[in-house]
Amino acid sequence: MKEKMRFITEEMENLKASGLYNKIRIIESAQGAWIQVDGQKVLNLCSNNYLGLANHPKLVKAAKDAIDNYGVGPAAVRSIAGTQAIHVQLDEAVAEFKKVEAALTLQGGFLANQAVILPLVGRNDTIISDELNHASIIDGARLSGAKIKVYRHNDMEHLEELLKEDNQGRVLVITDGVFSMDGDIADLPKLVELTEKYGAISMVDDAHGEGVLGEGGRGIVDHFGLHGRCDIEIGTFSKAIGTVGGFIAGSQVLIDYLKQKARPFLFSSALPAADVAATLQAITMLKEDTHLVDKLWSNGRYFQEKIKALGFDIGQPQTPITPVMLKEADIARQFSDQLFKRDIFAMAIGFPTVPRGKARIRVMISAAHSQEDLDFALEQFEQVGKEMGVI
Ligand SMILES: *Cc1c(COP(=O)(O)O)cnc(C)c1O
Repeated sequence: MKEKMRFITEEMENLKASGLYNKIRIIESAQGAWIQVDGQKVLNLCSNNYLGLANHPKLVKAAKDAIDNYGVGPAAVRSIAGTQAIHVQLDEAVAEFKKVEAALTLQGGFLANQAVILPLVGRNDTIISDELNHASIIDGARLSGAKIKVYRHNDMEHLEELLKEDNQGRVLVITDGVFSMDGDIADLPKLVELTEKYGAISMVDDAHGEGVLGEGGRGIVDHFGLHGRCDIEIGTFSKAIGTVGGFIAGSQVLIDYLKQKARPFLFSSALPAADVAATLQAITMLKEDTHLVDKLWSNGRYFQEKIKALGFDIGQPQTPITPVMLKEADIARQFSDQLFKRDIFAMAIGFPTVPRGKARIRVMISAAHSQEDLDFALEQFEQVGKEMGVI
């Protein structure tokens, strides 16, 4: 070990000593309700595969066909020679699905935030951000150099106080659509009203709302009927849509501008055609019928009702995301280990992802789960809960 690298070992030891070291489980099968993890077949309660599309035969076929037609790599950034016909089809399909003038698809939701924030605000401007916003929004905001103000989670009175202040330059207000740790939904109608009142730009990152909220999974703007009023929607394909990639949806002028200015669009290669084709297939299926989205919600309601009846505290989720509150990080970790022994894969989440004393098992319900799967999970939660004395 070189002396100059010793700080890394020390930091790793600190992480382990404070229980924050993250051991990464290896998934040895395709995604689905049941997966193989570290040699064991387990019921998967912690992926973002809300609609079970990540290994859907129709998406797999679309990806294979696209490889036959377009090959495996884009060979360029989109602004030079990486925009294949299928990329344009996807941009248009997303715009139509989201009922906006235009959309731009990118390599991921993380990058989409950088792509849109930096061209809109800089050093002389202001960003106002929810305290629980996703890391990619925080990083995008920091990179922009704008002054960053943070309002208390979903507290629209606090947001208004900050909007009333003498803010410098353009003002961009950003929120997550669905907050993925608690499963609650942003008060977007009020946020949009306030940005209209104070002349600020409104932006929602709906990564956990795409494919979940709104008619047929059209997202939070559709859920609240705010079409044309929320200036910018960010989304990802890597959650409910089951593939990978991100997008920005909004007005034609915004999207045309981003094609000139957004650095992840200009300087990082396009999505491979296979991912684009699988995503197009998913969007086609969501447009055709809503049964997967309906199943996700009925599964969510079923699980939440039953787990509450067992005596667990799940907070107040407004989506199928179900946090099972266990407060202390080591209790949550032990609970997760016990569940794993009983063939349930549900990860414990503690500080710094959630505040200290608010550790939990976050149960991610999917349309891929059958009622027997959910009953099996509930049985194991009940038994572990009783053994550990938490219910
Ligand atoms: C998951 C997530 C992202 C990242 O999306 P990727 O497509 O995985 O890069 C961005 N924003 C929010 C709010 C998310 O939950």
